Amino acid sequence: MGRNIVVTGGATGIGRAIASTFAAGGDTVVITGRRAEQLRTTAAELGITAHTCDATDPAQIEALLDQLPQDIDVLVNNAGSNTDIGREAPTDLASLAAAWRANLDANLISAVLMTSALRDRLTSGGSVVHIGSIAADKGGTAYAAAKAGLASWNAQLSAELGPHGITANVVAPGYIAATEFFHDSLTDERRDALIAATHTRRPGVPEDVAAAVHYLASPGARQVTGQVLAVNGGEHTTR
Ligand code: NDP
Repeated sequence: MGRNIVVTGGATGIGRAIASTFAAGGDTVVITGRRAEQLRTTAAELGITAHTCDATDPAQIEALLDQLPQDIDVLVNNAGSNTDIGREAPTDLASLAAAWRANLDANLISAVLMTSALRDRLTSGGSVVHIGSIAADKGGTAYAAAKAGLASWNAQLSAELGPHGITANVVAPGYIAATEFFHDSLTDERRDALIAATHTRRPGVPEDVAAAVHYLASPGARQVTGQVLAVNGGEHTTR
C-alpha cells in the first residue's frame, strides 16, 4: 500500500521533483506552498493533492492540519529560500534584523513548526527529511546560518524520534540548476564557477536531490538517522 507523503514547497523545483518521485512509486503525496495557482498546476500535472500554507505561519499550519491525513509516513521540509538574493545589503539595524529573521523563518523555523505540528501523526517506520544546503558549511550569511541551524536542530530531533521508529535526516544540495531559487540573479561567470568547483563538472538537478530523499525515506535506510547527506557533486566546502 502507498505511503502518505507531505512535501512543503512542493509546487516547484526540488520539491516538485521530490513529490513526483514519491508519486511515481505509488505513494499518496500532498504538496504545500504559498502560491495557489502554482500548486494547482503542479498537482494536476502530477495527479497529487495540494494545499496553500505558508510554512512560517503557525495559524496557517494549524488550518492545514484539517486537510492532511491522520497518519503521515514521510514529511519533507523542502520549503525555503534565500531571502537576501537580489536585495541590497541592509544598511540600518531594523532592516538587518528583518533580513535575518526572514531567512531564519523561511529555512529553519518553517521546518521546526511543520515537524512539531505533524509530530503526533508520524508513523513508526516513517521519516522526516529536511532540505538543507551546502551553504551551511560555507557559512557567512543569514541563509547559511539558518541551514546550519537546521542540521544542528535535526540532531536532537533524530534522538527524539528514533525510539518511535522514525528517522530524521538532512539532504544538503550544492548548486541545483533549473529551479526558481536564484531568481535569474546568477551570472554566467558565477554559474560556471559553481560547476567548476564540483568533481562531477555538472550542476545538480532536482532529481538528484529527490533520489537522496527517496532513499532516506526507504526501508533500506532505517538505520540512517541524524545525518546530513550532501548532494553536491563533491564540491569543495572549506571556507
Ligand atoms: P524554488 O524556489 O523552486 O522552491 C522553493 C519552494 O518553497 C517554492 O515552491 C516556494 O513556493 C516554497 N516556499 C518558500 N517559502 C515558503 C513558505 N514560507 N511556505 C511554504 N512554501 C514556501 O527553489 P528550490 O527548489 O531550488 O529550493 C528548494 C529547497 O532547496 C530550498 O529549501 C532551498 O533552500 C534548497 N536549496 C536549493 C539549492 C539550489 O541550488 N537550487 C541549493 C541548496 C539548497 P511559494 O513561493 O509558492 O511558497
